[in-house]
Amino acid sequence: MQAMVLNKLRTPLEWTELPDRQPGPGQIRVKVAACGVCRTDLHVVDGELPDPFVPIIPGHEIVGRVDVIGPGVTGLTLGERVGIPWLGHTCGSCPYCRMQRENLCDHPIFTGYTRDGGFATATIADARFAFPLGEVGDDISLAPLLCAGLIGWRSLVIAGDGKKLGLYGFGAAAHIVAQVARWQGRSVYGFTRPGDKATQAFARSLGAVWAGGSDEMPPEPLDAAIIFATVGDLVPLALKAVRKGGRVVCAGIHMSDIPSFPYSLLWEERQLLSVANLTRQDGIDFLGKVPEMGIVTHTTTYPLRNANEALADLRAGRFDGAAVLVP
Ligand SMILES: [Zn+2]
Ligand SMILES: [Zn+2]
Repeated sequence: MQAMVLNKLRTPLEWTELPDRQPGPGQIRVKVAACGVCRTDLHVVDGELPDPFVPIIPGHEIVGRVDVIGPGVTGLTLGERVGIPWLGHTCGSCPYCRMQRENLCDHPIFTGYTRDGGFATATIADARFAFPLGEVGDDISLAPLLCAGLIGWRSLVIAGDGKKLGLYGFGAAAHIVAQVARWQGRSVYGFTRPGDKATQAFARSLGAVWAGGSDEMPPEPLDAAIIFATVGDLVPLALKAVRKGGRVVCAGIHMSDIPSFPYSLLWEERQLLSVANLTRQDGIDFLGKVPEMGIVTHTTTYPLRNANEALADLRAGRFDGAAVLVP
């Protein structure tokens, strides 16, 4: 197998020839067809997550086909198309696993962070954490759903069912959530970097009723806002934009410090929450509805060898939607 490996934090990934791997008990080997590039991959490369683990193969938006089945695996067949998400394994016995909150597991394994991921021609996964994807939709279009879509979905559920929804940071996740929210009959307000007219036009093209800079106030108070950008300064701005009792959900795994702000922004039962990881139930709920929601992902594809270019373009905001690597 070949892979793009992070050998040292804050250095480029390196194209590497590796021996083929065999799945252990409960595991499958998946031949990778496409792997999305997520902002979390930048945090992995930059060493911004706790206890960074190197060498590591990043990538946790994997679409591929089962090509070897390990001992004891049931319910999957050779050649079946599956999606491998960020949540790679949970312990099943900690208090969080036992209260159906496996996204908060005390002993998790995360794909592309603490276990090798999908910037490769093949990957090993825990079969219980692989989602059967069926045959509707092409591999590249489906890849961003495995994290941008799933974390976006969980954030949307946690934001509540308010009709007026603000999305701060209009990248891969927001461009999917905007389509889900519209399908649910909500109004989407898109917030971008100030002056980023191109992304504001992109938000409107996906049905946003309003799009503007994050330094602007929406034309009417929002019921909820989801912050996908990694910028802590957006928290007080979003609190200011939501109505009494409104919710602000921080969806990123990493964010710069939140500046202090007057209590009046939180007063009147506004709520500030964060979303961490996903549960397998999120995957079943979201991926099961994808065909009827008619989501169209906007993707820019790169050969696997060009993963560093994809990461650099993501960092610089050089494309709308999501980047996807193809082996
Ligand atoms: Zn991700
Ligand atoms: Zn656990």
